[in-house]
Amino acid sequence: MPEDSLKAIALEVVSCRKCRLCGTRRNAVPGEGASSARVMFVGEAPGEKEDFEGRPFVGAAGKLLTELLNSIGLSRDEVFITNTVKCRPPNNRPPRKDELAACREYLDRQLRLVRPRVICPMGNSAIHRLINPDQSVSELHGIPLEIGGRTFFPMYHPAAALYTFSLRRVLEEDFRKLRGVLDAWD
Ligand code: URA
Ligand code: SF4
Repeated sequence: MPEDSLKAIALEVVSCRKCRLCGTRRNAVPGEGASSARVMFVGEAPGEKEDFEGRPFVGAAGKLLTELLNSIGLSRDEVFITNTVKCRPPNNRPPRKDELAACREYLDRQLRLVRPRVICPMGNSAIHRLINPDQSVSELHGIPLEIGGRTFFPMYHPAAALYTFSLRRVLEEDFRKLRGVLDAWD
């Protein structure tokens, strides 16, 4: 088998038909960023704007994510941004178990290629997919976690802070803590 690459994954994703979400998507959203990113952010699934553009986190939640990144001196193109499933579920419902399972290999391969120092699952879907289906963002956010040789730093999903204003401060604080985790390695 030829060596895997982020480009190869993206090409497979845009023509993937492994789950029912391929029937309702406009564009699949593989994810984007640096192949050498030190941090990977994993959201839930593309929303309407992401589905329209084929790019992750370009709507309102994405605008907040970009601001939070900038607030700790990171730009979008030096991190990697993707989702647990690469196609938009109808009406933004949460991805189902079989869809997560069908899509699983793409995120796994992205993780193996980028090998980020820190993986930030944002919100419960990503936390359940990457860490533990029985734990939630309210208990795990803002604390680094070592599992199987990987470092996770769970966060609230930026969309949650758009609905619940008090979570915005929590997210800002967690991004500052993430900065501290990254600086501790420099
Ligand atoms: N919400 C997500 O979980 N992912 C996106 O890409 C955009 C919004
Ligand atoms: Fe394929 Fe994932 Fe899209 Fe399903 S969500 S069609 S598995 S890329």
